[in-house]
Amino acid sequence: MRKLFALAAFALATAAGLSHADEVVVYSARNEQLIKPLFDAYTRKTGVAVKFVTDNEAALLARLKAEGDKTPADVLMTVDAGNLWLAAQDGVLQPTHSAALKAAIPAHLRDPGDQWFGLSVRARTIVYNTRRVKPQDLSTYEDLADPKWKGRLCLRSSKKVYNQSLVATLIKAHGEEKTESIVRGWVANLAVPPFSDDTKAMEAVAAGQCDVTLVNTYYFGRLMAKQAELPLAIFWPNQAPGLAYEGVHVNVSGAGVTRHARRPDEARKLLEWLASPEAQSLYADQNLEYPANPAVPAAPAVAAWGRFKQSPINVAEAGRLQSRAVMLMDRAGYK
Ligand code: FE
Repeated sequence: MRKLFALAAFALATAAGLSHADEVVVYSARNEQLIKPLFDAYTRKTGVAVKFVTDNEAALLARLKAEGDKTPADVLMTVDAGNLWLAAQDGVLQPTHSAALKAAIPAHLRDPGDQWFGLSVRARTIVYNTRRVKPQDLSTYEDLADPKWKGRLCLRSSKKVYNQSLVATLIKAHGEEKTESIVRGWVANLAVPPFSDDTKAMEAVAAGQCDVTLVNTYYFGRLMAKQAELPLAIFWPNQAPGLAYEGVHVNVSGAGVTRHARRPDEARKLLEWLASPEAQSLYADQNLEYPANPAVPAAPAVAAWGRFKQSPINVAEAGRLQSRAVMLMDRAGYK
C-alpha cells in the first residue's frame, strides 16, 4: 500500500513536471540486482534518491522517444556501445561536459561527442579446450579463419550484438573485403551451427564438440564459478605489436544524460560518482566485469585471468559500423 502510494505520488510529480533536487531518475537495461546496491550506496553517501525503471534496451529507447520532453528519466543506462550509440543517434541523450568523467574514463570507452560514457568493460576473447588446444596454437581472431581450425570452431549466433560489434571493429581495422574473408573462414571452420548464447558455446567446447570459441569474459567467469573442473581457459588474442587489429575487442556498459533530463546536474553527478573508484569496483565486480576507470583494479577472480592489451578502437565504432557488419555477416553465411 505504501509502495502504491509512493508510485502514485511519483507519477503525479512527474506528470506535473515538478522536479526534486534530491532525486534522480534512471532508465536501466541493467537488472535491479546489479544496480540497486550501487544506487543505495549513492543515496547513503549523498542523500539523493535514485529512482529507476528496468527494461530491455529496445523498450527503454522506444519509451524515451515516445515520452519526448515529458520523460521523467534523467539518465539512460544500458549495455553495449552499439545500443548507446543508437540512443545518441536517436536524439534521446545530450552531451555531458565533465572533466571528472573525461579523467576517469579512457577516450576509447566513451562517446567522442560526450553523450555517453562506458562504466564497465567486457572483453570478447577466445576460450579454448585445455585438453585439445595448446595456447601457443592460438594467436588472433583472424587466425580462427585459418583452415587448421576446420571443424574445431564454435560461435554464438550473429544475431546477437556482441559478435556484430566484434565484426564492426574488424571492418574498422581491415576494411570490408578482408573482414568478409575472415568471417567466411570462421563459417567454414564451424563444427556445429551457431549457438544462442555464449555459455552454450563454451559448454560445447568443454564437451569436445569443438575446440575454440569467442565469448565475453563474464560468461566464462560465471560458468567456471559453477563448474571449476571444466577443461576451459581464456586466451588473449591480438597481443603482438604492430597488428592491423591490435588488442582484445572490448565493449562497455555505460550511461548518458537524457536530452530532456529535468535534473541534468544531478544526472551528471551520478555519472561522475559511477566513474569514481568507489563505485567502479562495486559495479564491475558484481558482474565479473572490468572497471572502465583504469585506476581501479579488477576483482581478484577477474584479475586472475591475466593482463591484456585492449583494442584502442573507440567503442562507438561498434555502433557506427553495426549495420555494415550485419550485412557482411549475412553475405558470409554466418547465421
Ligand atoms: Fe551478456
